[in-house]
Amino acid sequence: MVIFSGIQPTGRKHLGNYIGAILNYVKGQDKADPAIYCIVDLHGTTVQYDPAELRQRTRETAALLVAAGLDPERCVLFRQGDVQEHSELCWLLSSVTSVGQLNRMHQFRDKAGAARDRVSAGLLFYPVLMAADVLAYRANEVPVGEDQREHIELMRDAAEAFNKRFGETLVVPEANIPTVGARVRDLKEPERKMSTTGGTPQGTVYVDEEPESIVKKFKKAVADSGSEIVVRDDKPGISNMIEILAVVRDTTPAEIEREFEGSGYGAFKTAVGEEVAAWLAPVREKYLEIKDDTAYIESFLEVGASKARAIAAPIVADVREAMGVGPVR
Ligand code: ATP
Ligand code: MG
Repeated sequence: MVIFSGIQPTGRKHLGNYIGAILNYVKGQDKADPAIYCIVDLHGTTVQYDPAELRQRTRETAALLVAAGLDPERCVLFRQGDVQEHSELCWLLSSVTSVGQLNRMHQFRDKAGAARDRVSAGLLFYPVLMAADVLAYRANEVPVGEDQREHIELMRDAAEAFNKRFGETLVVPEANIPTVGARVRDLKEPERKMSTTGGTPQGTVYVDEEPESIVKKFKKAVADSGSEIVVRDDKPGISNMIEILAVVRDTTPAEIEREFEGSGYGAFKTAVGEEVAAWLAPVREKYLEIKDDTAYIESFLEVGASKARAIAAPIVADVREAMGVGPVR
């Protein structure tokens, strides 16, 4: 079984990325052959950005993944832009993806907002490049957070449409979305997801954040009206913290509800903050140890890129051939 997933280098990665995606990347190393992860720097060019910062953040994101438990020798860990097959397959797949479908994507609508006609064409094309990322490896499973469900549907549609029109060539992948923690919410505005580019600074907990600062953010998190500690639709703030703690302790939300029944919101928020801070501390320490070791990071990314290319090149060659692009091999 092949696992593939990508993560953006557009900013400091947060607790939502960690719980919704990175934890499953780490688990994937033990069950996939191979588990393939990439830092999607090409996706990072779809919004306003600074080139030097993009390069720097890409390395930092790679370092963070290693600090979280990815082993560059046990998985394939690389930078998207280093493997040109992604860009080529993106173009080829554009022939089986409709403009209407891309226009309807929630992420595009959210990120473009009112400026829909003025944003980069790359932002509209984001899901096609993402489809190429996954389909270039004939991946079976894609670990992602809930917000990516729609993009996985789109890539499944593209793979099915391709196979129907050009013959069985691509694997139709499945999403692997966690049952708890698939959509970690912003602590200040719990109606929306914690996000690298769109969240509130005080409501976003970074994986590499100082423990004291993490505790402070939880203490100041928006709790809901009332005093019950239960998961319920009208309690997005408290429900979020219950889910977070359930993941940290590797237990169920119901267990957390039972334990904190009758506690006040203040005590509950402090408990969650302290446990999250302690849980992330070793990842932060390891990250600080390696994040400035550019030579080390570049060297494992280079090895990763050549492993990735070796898998993707023959698959993209099959796609070209099926589509009538270039000579028969
Ligand atoms: P941006 O806001 O710029 O899109 P992001 O915070 O969504 O950034 P990505 O790099 O796009 O970060 O996402 C990496 C992975 O983290 C994806 O699998 C995504 O589904 C997951 N993810 C992102 N935010 C959350 C969240 N709040 N809860 C759970 N999973 C999340
Ligand atoms: Mg995102």
